[in-house]
Amino acid sequence: MAQTGIGGHRRALRRLRTIMAGDGSAQERLDEIVKVVAAEMVAEVCSIYVMRAGETLELFATEGLNPTAVHLTRLRVGEGLVGEVAARARPLNLPDAQSHPQFSYRPETGEEAFHSLLGVPVLRGGRVRGVLVVQNRAQRHYSDEEAETLEVIAVIIAELIASGGLVSPVETAPAQGNAVLAIRLEGVRINGGLATGEAVHHTPRVSIPQLVADDPAAEHRRLAEALSSMHSELDDMLTLDALGRPGEHRDVLRAYRKFAEDRGWLRRIREAIDGGLTAEAAVQKVLDDTRARMRQITDPYLRERMADLEDLAYRMLHHLTGDVRTAHLAEQPEALVLVAHSIGPAELLDYAPKRLKALILEEGSANSHVAIVARALDIPVVGRVKGALSQVDPMDPVIVDGDHSQVYVRPGEDIQQTVAEYFSVRQRRLAAYSAKRDEPAVTKDGVCVSLNVNAGLLMDLQSLEASGADGVGLYRTEIPFMLESELPGVEAQTDLYRRVLEGAAGRPVRFRTLDIGGDKQLPYFRDSADQNPAMGWRSIRVALDRPSMLRQQLRALIVACDGRPLSVMFPMIAEVAEFEAARAILDLEIERAKSRGRRMPEPLEVGAMLEVPSLMWQLDSLLPQVDFLSVGSNDLFQFLFAVDRGNPLVADRYDVLSPGLLSVLENLARRCSENRVAVSLCGEMAGRPIEAMALIGVGFRSLSAPAGTLGAVKTMVNGLDAGALAGFMKTLLSLPDHSIRERLRDYAIDHGIELAEL
Ligand code: PEP
Ligand code: MG
Repeated sequence: MAQTGIGGHRRALRRLRTIMAGDGSAQERLDEIVKVVAAEMVAEVCSIYVMRAGETLELFATEGLNPTAVHLTRLRVGEGLVGEVAARARPLNLPDAQSHPQFSYRPETGEEAFHSLLGVPVLRGGRVRGVLVVQNRAQRHYSDEEAETLEVIAVIIAELIASGGLVSPVETAPAQGNAVLAIRLEGVRINGGLATGEAVHHTPRVSIPQLVADDPAAEHRRLAEALSSMHSELDDMLTLDALGRPGEHRDVLRAYRKFAEDRGWLRRIREAIDGGLTAEAAVQKVLDDTRARMRQITDPYLRERMADLEDLAYRMLHHLTGDVRTAHLAEQPEALVLVAHSIGPAELLDYAPKRLKALILEEGSANSHVAIVARALDIPVVGRVKGALSQVDPMDPVIVDGDHSQVYVRPGEDIQQTVAEYFSVRQRRLAAYSAKRDEPAVTKDGVCVSLNVNAGLLMDLQSLEASGADGVGLYRTEIPFMLESELPGVEAQTDLYRRVLEGAAGRPVRFRTLDIGGDKQLPYFRDSADQNPAMGWRSIRVALDRPSMLRQQLRALIVACDGRPLSVMFPMIAEVAEFEAARAILDLEIERAKSRGRRMPEPLEVGAMLEVPSLMWQLDSLLPQVDFLSVGSNDLFQFLFAVDRGNPLVADRYDVLSPGLLSVLENLARRCSENRVAVSLCGEMAGRPIEAMALIGVGFRSLSAPAGTLGAVKTMVNGLDAGALAGFMKTLLSLPDHSIRERLRDYAIDHGIELAEL
């Protein structure tokens, strides 16, 4: 810079501010900006490229390149070095630009004379709106400080582009005007259910009155004040029961509150203030930078954290601009279907729970924080709906079918009619199931089947009561761990398990020890890039290699039980030695608790999950050592058939109702019964009536499934003759068929067994 250091940098910003405040046209201002930047940065060239429709960057202003190239030179995103900056949404700093493989020579610009190049993206709203470039004849490396200065200047240019004076906003806006065309969009199920309403776009917009500041100290003070008022707002949210009932949303908000204190985020905001921006512009800049970079990241956990960060950044901007959102909902429809790219958990709670009927996300995953809050609100959520914001216009009537991961936009009469019928059938079924809540699950020939719920959240325990289940057949302890930002300590775990036991109100709960790894990564505990995570370092393998984690968990369980019954099982046991090793760790903790005078769990039941086929060949030595076995059929099926449970390409290739899997299960149930060891099954198949029927047919008398499925399973059980079914199934298990699903369906029809799912 002409005058190096912060002083020169500030002078440049002051001059730009004067230009921005002046009354020339946007193009005139851009022409002046390139002159000032070139002079202040001692660059022979400064050029600004603006993004136009069709992902094309057009040279809009230049100092130093051939002026006739302005509005003539165009590059596609990814083309040339300018296109490269846009494609990567990152700065490019090159002493010898022409030797870069991406260099693309444009004769009309006359840029062959310039060797070094520093280009930064112009970002706004997480999208690249242009590229700002300086070039010099000499081969030189621009300093970090110069790169930062250019990034700050890019914030100002972004504002100019967004004002619409250069390119009509219509040109780059997402496609609108979907008029009356009815469409159906598909995504992934994040939360089930069916709801209708009017679409509202979730596009948090805050206008930033001033970008450049003279007094960084004052901006730091404003930031500190805004931070503290935001923190107390979040604390209020935590104490105020926004949902009117207890549940994980609190834990989620707590984790989010911690995130609000994230040092890296705050440091980058402070640096941007030091760079000359106002506090608002600094928050916006850090958000834009992060967002643009995150676009290329596929890691679902990181992407979800991005949603939290966006939520926080907007919250912070509202505090800085004094426009704190309270009831920003006055003019919103009574039945509101929110459409968002992504949304943070606290931001979702800003919408009136009574009006919010469903959520459609362009991103999102079932384990995201917002999904958990949405479940607490009991609204259907469909995620990963491509282009939702461009395909659904505000106020469009929308039907969200979370169960089938479908969204109907501007539905015609016929679809509305079909959905209305489906809606009333669903309501009738729900009413029928709840009327049966207290009736036992007994077959016509008097066989009792124990129906239990799979849980992982405190709010699942509320459905335990509502579904009339016998208990919790699988409590996935890793789920609460996944919501935390660090490994919960013994005390936090004890408190959680105590709440689980209290929530279950005397019904038995089967705790499964941590089953992390594979598709269940903990944010603070990442394994090395496993080639094959489902078969890698996961579950009991992690627990036995890091015994202190397992010890702490078992300690917390023992203390939480405080003399009550404790049922605990170890996941992914592949050989008896692993069960023995895990059991030995439990015994150590029992001894420890005894020596401290704690009340012992009474009775204590210890079991293993049968999920890895190898264990089937060690049943003789395993069965005498366990109190029960629980089949994790999701994993067992995956390993028996070598079929990745998360890969949609092979999802329907094999059927759990194959003679192969059912023969294994029949063998297991028989051996357990002969050895008087309780056996149950807690994979997803237990929650589907036809599959649950097959399980009863091969000898299972205890099933555990998501709470919402139990009503349908009980209805099936009540219509069944278990003895007759067992006889029929014996004839099927030796068939060479791919599946016996159709035969079982025919059998059910012939015998009046109801197999409807919700
Ligand atoms: C299973 O594998 O079937 C099971 C119940 O465990 P998870 O789905 O949590 O792996
Ligand atoms: Mg499993």
